[in-house]
Amino acid sequence: MRLRFRVLGSGSSGNATLVEAGETRILLDAGLGPRELAERLQSAGVDPASLSLVLLSHEHTDHSRGAASFSRKWGVRLCGTRGTYAAAALGAEEIAGYDVLEPGVARGVGSLMVLGEPIPHDAAAPVAFVIASGEARLGHATDLGHVSASLVQAFEGCQAVLIESNYDPGMLRDGPYPWSLKERIFSPLGHLGNGDVARYLAAGLPASCRDVVLAHLSEKNNHPEAARMAAERALEACGREVRLAITDRDGTGWIDVAVPRRPAPSASQLRLWGE
Ligand SMILES: [Zn+2]
Ligand SMILES: [Zn+2]
Repeated sequence: MRLRFRVLGSGSSGNATLVEAGETRILLDAGLGPRELAERLQSAGVDPASLSLVLLSHEHTDHSRGAASFSRKWGVRLCGTRGTYAAAALGAEEIAGYDVLEPGVARGVGSLMVLGEPIPHDAAAPVAFVIASGEARLGHATDLGHVSASLVQAFEGCQAVLIESNYDPGMLRDGPYPWSLKERIFSPLGHLGNGDVARYLAAGLPASCRDVVLAHLSEKNNHPEAARMAAERALEACGREVRLAITDRDGTGWIDVAVPRRPAPSASQLRLWGE
């Protein structure tokens, strides 16, 4: 079944990604206000009430701002780790329901399989996502201080990877943030810089990957061209042919997760199977 996704919003102003396979649609994060989320879904041709689930990566408001009110208004269940549930104080809200996501345990949602992979970030129990439909797989990681070996492993087999490229190190260092905040962002529990992403693309990107989306770019501490150049250089240096997209706060159009067609079986292979 065709797997496709569409970033509805990205960065500190609010994160949400729509993922669809057949009639199953889920949101990864709900960091925009409920009305904005509904409008962006509708302009993607999607009825907000048709969503099966909203998956939360972590409790920070740029990922969870609209979750409770969206859930209540449209009757869509929320799902995330126990830590996210507690830290986002979702129990205090009348929500359509909350399903606990056990990190590392795949669960079915309609035509999709979803998996939460723990990631290093200064939140209660943050996760990246692997979303699969048949052989098609999307890896989705925002807000992480470094790329762990287990994340590289979890993304094996993905044909599309969305990863944050939050800051340009020079711009962050010389930029307007107070030093304590700069330290937090630079730390192994903070965010990924353009150089971190370049190293991941060179050494960790799965061989199966055909599409990379750079996301969660800081508007103060990064520039899309700086992020693009760092990523392109890394991909060129290792001879990878990958479509590279960068999302700003307004998101992207639909991106198909392309599963390469297997070559048609040869006559001799067919004969073998016939025996
Ligand atoms: Zn964030
Ligand atoms: Zn965060």
